[in-house]
Amino acid sequence: MFNLVIFGPPGSGKGTQSEKIIEKYQLKHLSTGDLLRAEKQSGSPLGKKIDALISGGNLVPDTMVQEMVEAFVIKNKHENGIIFDGFPRTVAQAEWLQNMLSSINEKINALVFLDVNDEELVKRILERGKASGRSDDQDASIIQNRIEVYNSQTLPVIDFYRQQGVSEKIDGIGSIDSIFSKISQAIDSKL
Ligand code: AMP
Repeated sequence: MFNLVIFGPPGSGKGTQSEKIIEKYQLKHLSTGDLLRAEKQSGSPLGKKIDALISGGNLVPDTMVQEMVEAFVIKNKHENGIIFDGFPRTVAQAEWLQNMLSSINEKINALVFLDVNDEELVKRILERGKASGRSDDQDASIIQNRIEVYNSQTLPVIDFYRQQGVSEKIDGIGSIDSIFSKISQAIDSKL
């Protein structure tokens, strides 16, 4: 398998670029945000808990997300590879993922980090919120909290992968196609 983490703050373009990566490299898309929103939509008691956390811009407990990730990986272990979008978001999740993948003789082959400044992020997320209807995309203070959670809990994940020599930083400002071409070069260097 070729397993890739698409990494970056909320609004950095992970979802948009994931779609292009999947098409070119024939990977399966695992978006923990999408899976959590689907659970929320179901209206189950778990969905209600998830809703409260997402709406406040806070992270869902590791164990809850890990269960979803494990089920997805096991189901797709005979595919070309997986693109992890929105996971791992904490160092504990990164460590857990490494152990889980190694139990099936797999690993993360590359991490692509989309670097975008805070001002641009807020602008992009508010714009996305108009179309997506996501409540966490429509309130400036919730967006700010998500960026703070990213800086404090998620950013350290890069060091975990940098130490393994798989991390590639890419300037996430520019046209979708020009960013994608830089991502492709970074992926090709890790294939
Ligand atoms: P996203 O669509 O990736 O921006 O995720 C939306 C929200 O889902 C986040 O703000 C978190 O509340 C939750 N979420 C997504 N992925 C994770 C994760 N790996 N760990 C914890 N919470 C997550």
